[in-house]
Amino acid sequence: MNIVHLLLASARRLPQAPALALGEHVLLNYAQLARRVLRLSAGLRALPGMAPGDRIALFMPNHPAYNEILFAIWHAGLVAVPVNAKLHPRELAWILQDCGARACLSLGTVEGVATLDVSSAAFEALHLEAEPAPAEVQAEDPAWLFYTSGTTGTPKGAVLTHRNLLFMVQAYFSDIDRLGPGDAILHAAPLSHGSGLYGLAHFAAGALNVIPESGGFEAGEIYALSDAWSGVSFFAAPTMIVRLLASPDARLPRGLKTIVYGGAPMYVADALRAVELFGPRLYQLYGQGESPMTITGLPQSAHGDTRHPRYLQRLASCGHARTGVEVRVFDADDRELPCGEVGEIVTRSDCVMAGYWNNPQAGERTLRGGWLHTGDLGSLDTEGFLTLRDRSKDLIISGGSNIYPREVEEVLLRHPAVAECSVVGRAHPEWGEEVVAFVVVRAGANADARELDALCLAEIARFKRPKDYRFVASLPKNNYGKVLKTELRNLLGNRQDTGRQA
Ligand code: AMP
Repeated sequence: MNIVHLLLASARRLPQAPALALGEHVLLNYAQLARRVLRLSAGLRALPGMAPGDRIALFMPNHPAYNEILFAIWHAGLVAVPVNAKLHPRELAWILQDCGARACLSLGTVEGVATLDVSSAAFEALHLEAEPAPAEVQAEDPAWLFYTSGTTGTPKGAVLTHRNLLFMVQAYFSDIDRLGPGDAILHAAPLSHGSGLYGLAHFAAGALNVIPESGGFEAGEIYALSDAWSGVSFFAAPTMIVRLLASPDARLPRGLKTIVYGGAPMYVADALRAVELFGPRLYQLYGQGESPMTITGLPQSAHGDTRHPRYLQRLASCGHARTGVEVRVFDADDRELPCGEVGEIVTRSDCVMAGYWNNPQAGERTLRGGWLHTGDLGSLDTEGFLTLRDRSKDLIISGGSNIYPREVEEVLLRHPAVAECSVVGRAHPEWGEEVVAFVVVRAGANADARELDALCLAEIARFKRPKDYRFVASLPKNNYGKVLKTELRNLLGNRQDTGRQA
């Protein structure tokens, strides 16, 4: 089934239901949106040389035309390539070349790259007076090329099929929330990533997709929109939750239904503060571009069950396998490890990508034995809760002992003055590596290395303690709010770092 049918069915069933809003203003109902999608589909099909399966890139910030373009691409039997809008034009050019994009839509012009500006008359003119039938596609045909966010190395395009996206939508309904008209999703995080993926569930249910007027993540605006609309959900990276908690507007908004967070570690101290403010309206997901938004999840009930004997361990985990998803932990030889042992997390389900575009070797390696090898380290407990350690490349090995940065970070974050921190390894002639902590201190608060060291001494093994503290104003992050440990390691002048990224 072509994924566009999710939208078309809602348009038949609920033609008058609001489909798309900019801030507090409805722009289009379902019938109007579907009509624009059909007309744009006709225009895309008519572009010179366009053939089924051709790729069309989107290089733009969150914008009301974003979803219309995605659905028109699928309607026309083409493949969408949503690109992180913060990439450098050179990086965009690389992706366009890699996927052989036939066209690229953008907001405004992009230096050195031929694009079609969605704010131009030419884009409107691409909406032809025609209402073609949706293209027939197979479930295993590509729908979305997801270029990995690139915290390391060159990006690879995970090929997500129509089946992958349908499975992801169904798992949303199974595990996160039932949705319907009267519900809304706020696209405060990039539509090229998690927010755009989860918007599909809302279109399938006839709910409203809201694009904030700022086009991005502004805490005050999110609070205001979550008051203004009803049944509001949104996807946020953990760093965005931290910003919501720190905002002077922090409150429980009237219309809030669910905050879905994930994409990077959520520290227990932050999760506790989030539960205190938002109550059990939090859902944590663990996924990756190669298995979009869907490997494990920690449900709202686990956030609310504060009396559970293992409440804190559960908050520190990323939950259990999503409905219809298998999750295991393998050793370096792909043998399954028993509960409690740390190894590589692997998964198998209809959500797992078909491979990497244009890179069959990397695809075969990552999918060997029929399992997606996530590159993440973690362990399962006897109840099936998965605790992530770190990506294998972030692991610090000092004097032959493994040190998981997250464990040290969790301890440092217990200090009331520590707003954010990130722990990395620095080359050491004797020990191989030693632990260094980058720390952001809360405005108006104080923390010094001695106090932090005392905290670590009280909580973790001596060899895990940072040997050096760097107090910084902020941590380097990518567009999705993930801390760029590679940059931190480079700051420390680690020559071996490039070798570890391969
Ligand atoms: P991406 O493909 O850009 O979505 O990045 C996926 C990676 O983000 C995963 O492989 C994990 O390393 C990390 N990640 C995703 N979800 C979580 C989570 N809930 N907790 C910790 N790390 C996460």
